[in-house]
Amino acid sequence: MIQPSHKALVPFVSVENMMRLVHHVGLEKMLTDLAAYIEDDFRRWELFDKTPRVASHSDVGVIELMPTSDGEAYGFKYVNGHPKNTSEGLQTVTAFGLLANVYTGYPTLLTEMTLLTALRTAATSAMVAKHLAPKGSSTMAMIGNGAQSEFQSLAMKAIVGIDTVRLFDRDPKATEKCAANLEGTGLTVIRCTSPEEAIEGAQILTTCTADKQYATILSDNMVGAGVHINAIGGDCPGKTELAKGILERSDVFVEYPPQTRIEGEIQQMPEDFAVTELWEVITGAKQGRRDARQITLFDGVGFAIEDFSALRYVRDTVLETPYHQDLDLLADPDDPRDLFGMLTRAAG
Ligand code: NAD
Repeated sequence: MIQPSHKALVPFVSVENMMRLVHHVGLEKMLTDLAAYIEDDFRRWELFDKTPRVASHSDVGVIELMPTSDGEAYGFKYVNGHPKNTSEGLQTVTAFGLLANVYTGYPTLLTEMTLLTALRTAATSAMVAKHLAPKGSSTMAMIGNGAQSEFQSLAMKAIVGIDTVRLFDRDPKATEKCAANLEGTGLTVIRCTSPEEAIEGAQILTTCTADKQYATILSDNMVGAGVHINAIGGDCPGKTELAKGILERSDVFVEYPPQTRIEGEIQQMPEDFAVTELWEVITGAKQGRRDARQITLFDGVGFAIEDFSALRYVRDTVLETPYHQDLDLLADPDDPRDLFGMLTRAAG
């Protein structure tokens, strides 16, 4: 057997261990803690390196890299988006990610991020809704009942305090799955047979569908005054969920405008369409919800800093638990210049 002659092992969190970590912490507590980490990083927004994600598009989907750094740590996520995958028994979105030390460049964490993406997306949606949704919001319409939907519902319960979700999906089996999974969570779950029925009486409207087209999940006449729209399924060029008229009547809040203008609902609007950056609402520099009749719209596409916060959270939490393995990922010979010698010694 080859003896390792190097010392730098990298903590690795597998899917199995991520699930153990979630159960160890508690799902709703983890969503709340993640939202706090994300909110903290939005407060220090200006010091991050920021770039729109690097996307490689194909006819059927997209593969993306999402890097950022706060000067001390560097993180990136690899993520795909393939709406046709579910019909082949595969996930629409899968991901993994890495955190590294900026001083040495050595990785400090490698982790699955498919579950973590669902958790951080839900935590972001709920953190944003806490700032923008009408006070006392109790009901959310959840349109698109796929992989993200239960996480979205439970984050809104834990962080915003909703007590009811009204579910709709064009595939009734997805709605059944979501409703069954939410049983016993304390949420009142109502299965709906149309998007119009789903939004009845809801203060928060979440759209989280997957389709590679300019879809109209919400048409202009469906959206009344005073609601908060959490539109997170449109996150690629040529993939949107809202009628243009809704954007014209709403105050639109975004993560990072250079990325959202390419990928978000606002790709339908002129380049100079006015948006508010969320970090400025969170620091108090800009106003969020002004009045009870205003429509607030979170045009969420998912930004690298949210993944960075999630990686930071996992690093801070998992190392005190047994839910990680040490991975022999880096060649790190005792004599840093003798990489070749390390290889030759391994032959013996
Ligand atoms: P999924 O494929 O598991 O679920 C999508 C659901 O949408 C399916 O159940 C499908 O039947 C339903 N759907 C499609 N078109 C519909 C329509 N016209 N009306 C009603 N329902 C419809 O996907 P998922 O993992 O839940 O992700 C959902 C979307 O969210 C994807 O587009 C994904 O790219 C996006 N996403 C965004 C972020 C973000 O940060 N903004 C993060 C993760 C995923």
